Formats: sequence, C-alpha cells, structure tokens
Amino acid sequence: MQECLFCKIIAGEIPSKKVYEDENVYAFEDISPMAKIHWLFIHKKHTENISAMSQDPQQITDIFQAITRVAQEKGLESDGYRVVTNLGPNAGQTVFHTHFHVLGGEKLKGFGA
Ligand code: 5GP
Ligand code: ZN
Repeated sequence: MQECLFCKIIAGEIPSKKVYEDENVYAFEDISPMAKIHWLFIHKKHTENISAMSQDPQQITDIFQAITRVAQEKGLESDGYRVVTNLGPNAGQTVFHTHFHVLGGEKLKGFGA
C-alpha cells in the first residue's frame, strides 16, 4: 500500500523508533504516547483493521506472540500492560493499517482501573 503511513514506516521511508522486528511483525514507539510506555505493533502484511486481519488468523497469532514476547523481555509483564486496537470512527481509528497499542510502565486509568 503505497499511501499507507505504517507501510512507509515498515519500509523505512518514514523514520520510527523501533522496539522490535521479525519477519512478520514490526513494533515502534507511538509518536504521541498516552502512557510511559506506548508501543504500536503492526503486521508487515497490510490490512485495514482487525476485521480484515481476522481473515488471516495467522497474522493475529504473529502479532500476539510478538507482543507477549516483547512485553516479557522488556519487563512489562510483571506490573502489567494493556493491549488496544481501534476500528472505525466510534473508536477513533486514525491510521488504517491494523495496529495494536501496547500501554504500560505505569498504573493505567480507564477500563475500570
Ligand atoms: P489509532 O488512533 O488509529 O488507533 O492510532 C494511531 C496511532 O498512531 C496514534 O496513537 C498516533 O499517535 C500514532 N501515529 C500517527 N502517526 C505516527 C507516526 O508518524 N509515527 C508514529 N510513531 N506514530 C504515529
Ligand atoms: Zn499499510
């Protein structure tokens, strides 16, 4: 997808602060963090949202294996973290390349916390 911001980040055409990369998944720091740690995990195959991504469930597996591995390795798991994905206008999706926000590093507000 030539016009997709996150595809350009994967390609290195737009700079990002890389957190993790493997053959399928890329993770980087959110440019506008909503917590002390705020990472974005994306699959290298472009899809628009989790509904589209779910057509190829291996992509969900790839992403969640990466998230849980990196969260463990970087020490987030002991105190806990949150994973969020937005679909469409009610949720406030602004970038239409499926992405999973990983938030942590401090006590998070909202969602009953
Ligand atoms: P959404 O609102 O679609 O769920 O999340 C999009 C996220 O992408 C936002 O949290 C926003 O801060 C982040 N973002 C938008 N543009 C860039 C960018 O160029 N670089 C990085 N690192 N994050 C971005
Ligand atoms: Zn894309």
